[in-house]
Amino acid sequence: MSKDSLIALIVDQVEDQTQASFREVERDALPGGDVLIEVAFSSLNYKDGLAVTGRGKVIRSYPMVPGIDLAGTVLESTAPAFKAGDPVIVNGWGLGEMHWGGYAQLARVQADWITPLPNRFSLQQAMALGTAGFTAMLSILVLEEHGLTPGDREVVVTGASGGVGSLAVAILAKLGYKVIASTGRTEAQDYFFGLGAYRVMDRHKLSEPPSRPLASARWAGAIDVVGGDTLASLLAAMVPGASIAACGLAGGSELHTTVFPFILRGVNLLGIEASRIPLNRRLQVWSRLEQEFPPDLLDSLTQLISLAEVPEFSQRILAGQIRGRVVVDVKA
Ligand code: NDP
Repeated sequence: MSKDSLIALIVDQVEDQTQASFREVERDALPGGDVLIEVAFSSLNYKDGLAVTGRGKVIRSYPMVPGIDLAGTVLESTAPAFKAGDPVIVNGWGLGEMHWGGYAQLARVQADWITPLPNRFSLQQAMALGTAGFTAMLSILVLEEHGLTPGDREVVVTGASGGVGSLAVAILAKLGYKVIASTGRTEAQDYFFGLGAYRVMDRHKLSEPPSRPLASARWAGAIDVVGGDTLASLLAAMVPGASIAACGLAGGSELHTTVFPFILRGVNLLGIEASRIPLNRRLQVWSRLEQEFPPDLLDSLTQLISLAEVPEFSQRILAGQIRGRVVVDVKA
């Protein structure tokens, strides 16, 4: 990288077709913001896969540098809260959707989007957690705020081999919950038990529409990244007063259900939006991750790829072929 230019993965639209290519761009082309960051690592999330391949309407303006996460070092700042040399992370705030994101050697962002790097994590570990770890931890915080505590009853995590799912299983297990990992990859038992799962369940048991509005009450809590009929099945089988953190749509965005779980069992359906979280709450989530997440587990569920590999891995994450987390080494 020269002083005045940088390499970026740029997604553009040419005659309604999405094209992703690596380009050298002038530093002046970076969008506005008060902090310039030299990006060291980013990560690959489901949403990034949609953005890079153009298979989902994630990008709001073109040309766009995708990458909803980044970690790096401040190069220049006009904001008093940051100075050159500070290690920082950014997740959410339209990064990679409305504002150039992490798949570039430099990023310019607004200071109030930035979180100082938590002491316990390296830049690479922070990206192994990234938006997925942040979303998993935020979901658990919200469930706790609605009364979830460890006990004999089971808590289910859907999409358990994915980024949010794997990290949710690991954190809940560390907190002492009996975690059921619902997955299409039941053959990967060692992986789930390594994360601390109590039992592994075939996701097809949840993927049919529920035959009755209320099933036998099984789940004390749930983190759902799948949506659709899976979420409808969970709703029908929650114990009275229990809550679901609904954060994803990997299996579908429509929800066909009845009001019975809400009015007869007092079930709470809690929406999780992890992208526009104010600083105090963000610090709370990262601080809980520092306390609860065993860093030695991160290596076992993370693979490191280069920026050049992002287009190929974007196809793979959408095809459900990625397990755990993918960290992108932007310098490689
Ligand atoms: P991943 O691709 O890493 O994980 C998704 C997992 O869902 C897969 O690994 C697979 O798990 C399961 N899955 C995939 N396709 C299907 C399907 N058709 N039916 C049932 N299960 C399926 O994605 P992320 O963890 O990055 O994100 C998960 C979801 O959460 C996405 O929808 C994403 O957009 C959303 N999200 C939302 C956020 C928010 O702020 N609300 C923030 C972050 C993510 P398995 O093989 O184990 O079954």
